[in-house]
Amino acid sequence: MITLLQTPYDINAQNDLVRTTLLTKKISQSHPGIGPHSCWAGIAFYQNGEIKIQTGFSQMKNELEQSPYKNSWVKYHGELAGLAQAIEVIMGNGHQSGQLFPIVGVYIEMSPCGKCGPALQNLLPDGTTVLYSFDYATQKAAWEKAATDLCKA
Ligand SMILES: [Zn+2]
Repeated sequence: MITLLQTPYDINAQNDLVRTTLLTKKISQSHPGIGPHSCWAGIAFYQNGEIKIQTGFSQMKNELEQSPYKNSWVKYHGELAGLAQAIEVIMGNGHQSGQLFPIVGVYIEMSPCGKCGPALQNLLPDGTTVLYSFDYATQKAAWEKAATDLCKA
């Protein structure tokens, strides 16, 4: 089972995962096509004895090596985009399938929706804590306002 835990939306958070994800979001606003209302997620994982953080967001194009679709990329919600990025880095580092998967934590701006929740449950190691700041179902407007404020220069 994964555990969902609400945490403040704070770019100065003590938690590295929260701080790094929100800082990366803010810095990335200078890229054309990236706005405050893409949901960002950060994934923390072990690599070479260190904790690394990989981020993703809901509007990014995730490249597929072999695509059954019209395009060679797909878009996911933030948490699955982050997870896809992290898996790519982990596998690129020589991780073999069947080994204990080194993901140790997840932060998402909004809690997982009804589709991403079960996906995370299946994909993340048992016992993973998933931090989020806003409830997807009831706090979307509050998130949009907070994200707009966060991304202001
Ligand atoms: Zn979702």
